[in-house]
Amino acid sequence: RFITFEGGEGVGKSTQLARLAEHLRDCGFEVVTTREPGGTPKAEKLRAFLLSGRAAPLGPLAEAALFSAARADHVETLIAPALKRGAWVLCDRFADSTRAYQGARGGVDAKTLALLERAAVGDARPDLTIMLDLPAQEGLTRAASRRNGEAVDRFESEAPAFHEELRQAFLDIAESEPERCCVIDAGMPIDDVARAVQRVVHDRFLA
Ligand code: C5P
Repeated sequence: RFITFEGGEGVGKSTQLARLAEHLRDCGFEVVTTREPGGTPKAEKLRAFLLSGRAAPLGPLAEAALFSAARADHVETLIAPALKRGAWVLCDRFADSTRAYQGARGGVDAKTLALLERAAVGDARPDLTIMLDLPAQEGLTRAASRRNGEAVDRFESEAPAFHEELRQAFLDIAESEPERCCVIDAGMPIDDVARAVQRVVHDRFLA
C-alpha cells in the first residue's frame, strides 16, 4: 500500500506520517517512510538545490521538471521496489505537491504536469492520500515556531496569500479525486488527527 501525506506548510505531515508508521509497525507490517522532494541520495541533492534559493531564477516549468526528475529516481530506486515486496510506503508529499506548487501556484499547465507525473510515477500511484487541512496562517505560525521564527526555505517565506492559494489547490485536488484523497482537519489536537488518520487507513485497507 502506498499512502501519501499532502498539505501546506506546518500542517503536521511529518508528525502524522510518523504516528501512522508507528501504528502500522505495531500491527506487524513492514513500513517504509520517506519524503519528497528527496527520499534517495540523488533526489536529496536536487531537493537541496531546489529549496536553497539558488534555484529561484528557474521558471515553474523548469522547477516542475526537476521535482519530477527527483521523483523518478525516488520511485525507481525506493518506492516501487518497496511496494513490490509488499511493504507499506508512507511518503511526506508527492505528486500533488507539484500540482499545487508548480501547477496551481506556478501556472504550469495541467496537461504538462500530468505528462511529467505519469512519466515519473508510472504504476506507483498512491492508494490513499491524506490531505491535512489547516488555514494557511495557522500552518505558517506553526512552521515558524518549529524553527524559532526563521523561515528555512524560500517557499516558507512567501506571503500568506500564496499559502492560502496552495491550500485551495490541495482541496481542489481532493475534491476531484475523492476515491484516492481524504481531507482531515489538521487543526485538531495531534492525537485526534492521528486517530482520524488510523480510522481512514483501517476502513480502506484493513476492515
Ligand atoms: O514538506 P517540506 O517542508 O519538507 O517541503 C519542502 C519544501 O518544498 C516546501 O517548502 C514546499 O513548499 C516545497 N515544494 C515545492 N514543490 C513541490 C514540493 C515541495 O515547492 N513539488
